[in-house]
This record gives sequence, structure tokens and C-alpha cells, in this order.
Amino acid sequence: MQLAGRMSRLGTETAFEVLARARALEAQGKNVVHLEIGEPDFDTPAHVIDAGVEALRTGFTHYGPSPGIPQLREAIAEHVARTRKIDCRPANVVVTPGGKPVMFFAMLALVDEGDEVLYPNPGFPIYESMIRFCGGKAVPVPLRESRQFSVDVEEIASLLTDRTRLLILNSPQNPTGGVMPKEDVAALVEVLRKWPNVAVLSDEIYSDILYEGEHHSVLQHEGMSERTILLDGFSKTYAMTGWRLGYGVMPEAFAAQIARLQTNSTSCTATFTQMAGVAALRGDHGAVRAMIEAFRQRRDAIVDGLNAVPGFRCLRPKGAFYVFPNVEGTGIPAKDLQSRLLEEAGVACLAGTAFGAHGEGYLRFSYANSLENIHEALSRIRKFVG
Ligand code: PLP
Repeated sequence: MQLAGRMSRLGTETAFEVLARARALEAQGKNVVHLEIGEPDFDTPAHVIDAGVEALRTGFTHYGPSPGIPQLREAIAEHVARTRKIDCRPANVVVTPGGKPVMFFAMLALVDEGDEVLYPNPGFPIYESMIRFCGGKAVPVPLRESRQFSVDVEEIASLLTDRTRLLILNSPQNPTGGVMPKEDVAALVEVLRKWPNVAVLSDEIYSDILYEGEHHSVLQHEGMSERTILLDGFSKTYAMTGWRLGYGVMPEAFAAQIARLQTNSTSCTATFTQMAGVAALRGDHGAVRAMIEAFRQRRDAIVDGLNAVPGFRCLRPKGAFYVFPNVEGTGIPAKDLQSRLLEEAGVACLAGTAFGAHGEGYLRFSYANSLENIHEALSRIRKFVG
């Protein structure tokens, strides 16, 4: 079959390819420690599973409204109003199958051929993929170790042009764990005031996985809710990656446009899954707190362990469940180190370049794995680098 031209512009998530290779090695009898995939290793909290099962038994097995069922839109609006201290109504919310479709829908709705979109690099690879797929020009905003992997607001100011349609932000960040400080969020909002036609896609999917301080969002600033699309969801906070449940919060008129895209693609998000989401937001958060505390211990273990490896240098990230060590001191290019660690040492991780050109010289480890496995991986890495 002859593929459409746009397919050549579509990227991918290398994590899934590395996972497939790791599984193939395991099938040959090799032991692999998995530090490549970005999903909590915890189970979905029991009361959330119960709510999903109960919903299946009580008739939530039909199509639902494209923007989401009223119960969940209401719960999300309350949650966002409370956590971001803004006015948020159900009409601002569109529920999607995972957070990812919010990226795709937002770009399909906003980006015309040749429009410029600023995105973090290294960053979640789907941003660049979707920008290019939609015909936009992907303009990287470099994230640097010297700034604790937070964006440089002056650099963003220098990259904005009359063609800029969208700025993508992500804090806490994948792949670096970097967090945007409050002062930088405020300074960025001031810069954006000079560019009223630039929309913002604020990917806050890791906002609950934070080890110090409070989460800060552009949305909290005067006037920003009129041009911001907040992306958030249940995958990470509630260990619900496979349920496929996320959402966007945006101006009401824009939400209606995004709902049209949903009608044209998925029709709606599975309704029993949405009922589980209501239970997640409204129910007990003890399991979430315990998970975050476990992540904090693992972060400390992996950061200390990696800093003891010759040629590795690793910051202690404030959020998400990733570390992004600098490995230039090993003298091995990141991509080669990724494949040698997998094939020769049995440790699956990702080269920084899987997240864009500015990731050269770094590796990403997801520490969503047990302390025991993290210690095993560290000892394998030490032996390999030797
Ligand atoms: N945004 C970021 C930064 C992510 O890392 C991920 C998942 O890895 C997503 C969005 C997508 O999450 P979901 O599984 O809810 O689609």
C-alpha cells in the first residue's frame, strides 16, 4: 500500500522498542532489569478497580457523551479548581482515552502547515512527532542540566515569532524529572503577555508526583486560562496506564472543538473507566501517598548509586519517576551505551536522544521498579562500566 506523505513525518516512542528487544532477550533466557518504561509498577488502588467493576455490572457499557460523562467532568472540574486555584467548570473539561490524545487533538485543532510550535527538548517524543505530523515546524526549547532541566524563559522569549501558534510546557518533566520553579512560571507568563496569539499546552501529568515544594502551573496566572490547554490524567498518579483515562481542561468554546475531534475518532472514552476515574478523584488517597513515598526512596537510591558509577553524574530530580544522568564521562555515545547496557549487562534504559537531539550525552532511567531491582541494576551498571 502506498502510504500518505504525512506518515514519513510520524515519530515514535523508543521505550516501546527497547521493551520489545528486552522481552526478546528474556525469551532467550536472559535476565533483564526493566528501567525503560514510564509507568508505575504499583497496582491501581483497590477501591478504583472495584468502582470500574461495579460500573461494568451496572450498565456503563454503552457509548457516552464525546466530552465525557457528567459525573467525571464534574469531579475533574472540582479537582482542577482546587489544585490550580482557578475557576473551572465541567464545560471546560474533555475526557480522553489517556492524556496522549489531548496532545494530538490540540495540535490538530491549532496547528496549520508551517506554524511554529515550541516544545521541550529533551522531551516526551510524541510532542515533536505530532507537531511534524500536523505540518507544523518543531522549534526545540533546550533543557539544560545547568538549569536543573528547567526551561530558560529568556530563551523562550528569543524563540517566539509571529508564526508561533503553540508553546508546549511539561513540569514535572519527562525524561529529566525537572520542575519549573514558581518564579520562572511567573516570568514566562509575563513574556507571553506580549504574544497574545500563542496558545499553551501545559502537560502536567506528573503534577502529583512531586518530592518537594508545590506544583506551579501557568494556569494559576491571570488571563492564562483563556489560552491554555491543561493536559492531565490518571495514568501516573493512580497507576492506571492501561485503563486509558486522561483529560484536557481548556476554554469552553475550544473544548467543544476538541469534543468534535473525539466524535470523529474515538467517539468517547470507555464509560466504566470514567466511573473508576470518579472513584480515584473522590476516594481515599492513601495508596497514592504511599506510592509517591516509595518513589522518593527509589529516587534517592538510584541517584546515589548512579553518582558512584565512574563517568556518570546525576542530579536529584524534584518530580516524576525518572533520572537523567550525564554519561559523557564514560566516553560512550548514549545510544551505544543504551544498547550495550541491555545486551551485555541486562539493564534496559533509554538513550537521552530518544527524547530529542538535546538528550545526547544522557541516559534516562525510570525508577518505577522495586528497590531490590534498582540495586541489582546499579551493581550491573557498575560492573559493566568497571
Ligand atoms: N505526557 C507525558 C510527559 C508522559 O510522559 C506521558 C506518558 O508517558 C503522557 C503524557 C501520556 O500519558 P497517558 O498514558 O495518559 O496517555
